[in-house]
Amino acid sequence: MRTIMLIDMDYFFVACEEIKRPELRTRPTIVGADPKEGRGRGVVMTCNYVARKLGIHSAMPISSAYKIAPDAEFLPMDYPYYERKSNEAFGIIKDFSEKTEQVSIDEFFIDVSSKVNNSEDALLLAGKIKSSINSEAKLPCSIGISSTKLVAKMACEKAKPDGIKIVGEEEAAKFIWPLSVGELYGVGIKTRERLEKMGYGTIGDLAKANIMLLMKEFDSFGIELHNLSNCIDTREVIENYEVKSISKEYTFEKDTSKDEEIIKSIRKLSAEVGKEISGKGLSYRTVTVKLRYMDFTEHLHSRSIRPTGNAGDIEKTAVELYRENVDKGKKVRKIGIRASGLLDYKNQKLLFG
Ligand SMILES: [Mg+2]
Repeated sequence: MRTIMLIDMDYFFVACEEIKRPELRTRPTIVGADPKEGRGRGVVMTCNYVARKLGIHSAMPISSAYKIAPDAEFLPMDYPYYERKSNEAFGIIKDFSEKTEQVSIDEFFIDVSSKVNNSEDALLLAGKIKSSINSEAKLPCSIGISSTKLVAKMACEKAKPDGIKIVGEEEAAKFIWPLSVGELYGVGIKTRERLEKMGYGTIGDLAKANIMLLMKEFDSFGIELHNLSNCIDTREVIENYEVKSISKEYTFEKDTSKDEEIIKSIRKLSAEVGKEISGKGLSYRTVTVKLRYMDFTEHLHSRSIRPTGNAGDIEKTAVELYRENVDKGKKVRKIGIRASGLLDYKNQKLLFG
């Protein structure tokens, strides 16, 4: 039998901020867009549990969060720092098994089948991993354990915050069937709405659904839904392998400080990089903009985002990075766009359509 764990950092971005400023632990703290005294646009990326108790949650408009708690601590995203902490946590996790997979900046699968013999072993090992991440990276996390990725992930949801939950193979169906279809790992809002319209409220309803009906509505994803709702999930924990980065550069004929001209080049280069990435079936984590100025000084500005296959995000991120960092006092000579942290996400794509 396989033993798979999903390790998920609790309220990750804010937890990172709390390392820098421990006093935030007892205050409602929110990382996300600038609230601009209630007029700000954008959303809450993460908030701590003090803020959650007040009714604030991630993806909530930042203006709503401000209405609830104007005195809360509102902080901007510090991606490079979060990525360093993410790498630190992943490094610790890798010490426990060679079979590890990063799902997002704060979620990791680890297959420990060869390290444990029973559920007591598994719980003990999870406790060790959790306390290592706590003591070395100073980050809180929750761990779900089961024989499939699906149930490990769903167990972890129930373990949060700061907990460990194990669901044995024989209890898996009993565990997921009472949950609503929206809680099935891999079901997004759109799919949930369609399933509810078809009359399936719980995962148990879905498990008993006629597979032909599901296929009629969802094509091959219908088979997937049928399998997942019946706890059938053979996906392996796959080590993400990093390919080289992909980059493009452009030297202006004449040094320029014109935003339109520079941004036009950024868009063109981003499109070229994006095209190459999607052509190879890869996704990327980090976008870097290189600015070389007329005095030959060179600056690199990077931002990491969730692994994504969306080529359009390269352009968006690159333009943001340019606007935030360009030195208006100097003309730009050369510009470069690079996507790195490339991952082969074909396996995920096959599964989640
Ligand atoms: Mg998390």
